[in-house]
Amino acid sequence: MKRILITGAAGFLGSHLCDRFIKEGYFVIGMDNFITGAISNIEHLKEHSNFKLIEHDVTEFVKIEGELDYILHFASPASPIDYLKIPIQTLKVGSLGTHNLLGLAKAKEARILIASTSEVYGDPLVHPQTEDYYGNVNTIGPRGVYDEAKRFQESITMAYHRFHGLETRIVRIFNTYGPRMRLNDGRVIPAFMGQALRGEDLTIFGDGLQTRSFCYVDDQVEGIYRLLLSEYTYPVNIGNAEEITIRDFAEEIIRLTNTKQKIIFKALPTDDPLQRQPDITLAKKLLNWEPKVGRKEGMKKTFDYFRGLSKEQLYKSEHKDFANHIKK
Ligand code: NAD
Ligand code: UDP
Repeated sequence: MKRILITGAAGFLGSHLCDRFIKEGYFVIGMDNFITGAISNIEHLKEHSNFKLIEHDVTEFVKIEGELDYILHFASPASPIDYLKIPIQTLKVGSLGTHNLLGLAKAKEARILIASTSEVYGDPLVHPQTEDYYGNVNTIGPRGVYDEAKRFQESITMAYHRFHGLETRIVRIFNTYGPRMRLNDGRVIPAFMGQALRGEDLTIFGDGLQTRSFCYVDDQVEGIYRLLLSEYTYPVNIGNAEEITIRDFAEEIIRLTNTKQKIIFKALPTDDPLQRQPDITLAKKLLNWEPKVGRKEGMKKTFDYFRGLSKEQLYKSEHKDFANHIKK
């Protein structure tokens, strides 16, 4: 039986990846320190005979007993509000955490895939974004803690590949959504859906003419699965190329949720990218992959999930308190 370590296992994407690899017959070791994740995302796996959970901060030395065939490094805050609140942890998990996992991969002779992001393109001057675009990132801006950690992560991963001959894969993930996102993580989809469910006005940041392209989680997981098992070492964009302005998207959410709220406008966060759309030509050719779930279907599934949460979860609107997770 193949053994895989998945970091960030209690998070949104990590938990879906755990499900997928268990379904494919792997033994999955999930690792998380729960800083932005939740045990409820993997509760259903805790008693599974092919799953083991290790609570650990990957910025500290990572020790795993026995053999490992694969590592998926997904631990990292991913929402702009999260990484603005815990900037140093974000830098550390992308740099020190990635270094630890590359070292582990080398020691175990395992193949490692790291979760990079469309944020490596910053506020892009090339549209749609192709993998050969070097990006436009403000190193010292508030988002720089995430963007630069991910850019360093890509560099150290390639260095381990070139210098040590490690088998490495890099996925550049574009905005992905679905069940198990944290309702109050600040990202636009949980934010709008939470507001709709509580009967609050929807908050658009800026004029709402900035664009994003939203990928449903099942499509993202399929792309990652295929990339891990491919023979390609360089970064690959995985996302849905259907682009929409945030303003049109808010209107869609109002129609979907069938509520009467207004849209209100708030300040645009510093360095918020004005446009984002993946060019997925490479993934199509290399992995014979393309997204299958349209926004209408994906949003409905996601809304059904949020609608099923308890009143207590819905009204716990204050942002997650990270204090307990942060070492002084
Ligand atoms: P998430 O916040 O739901 O999950 C991240 C998980 O990592 C959480 O469970 C958190 O507790 C854990 N974690 C954070 N720091 C850790 C540490 N030091 N040690 C151990 N565990 C730690 O976010 P997500 O959306 O699931 O994102 C997962 C990965 O995918 C991240 O690396 C993120 O950068 C990347 N990504 C996601 C998206 C997206 O749209 N969801 C887009 C681009 C990139
Ligand atoms: N956004 C918004 N209202 C919100 C939350 C986000 O208008 O309540 C905007 C945000 O400014 C950005 C887009 O929606 O332009 C997507 O934001 P998100 O936080 O989901 O992720 P990003 O793509 O910026 O990493």
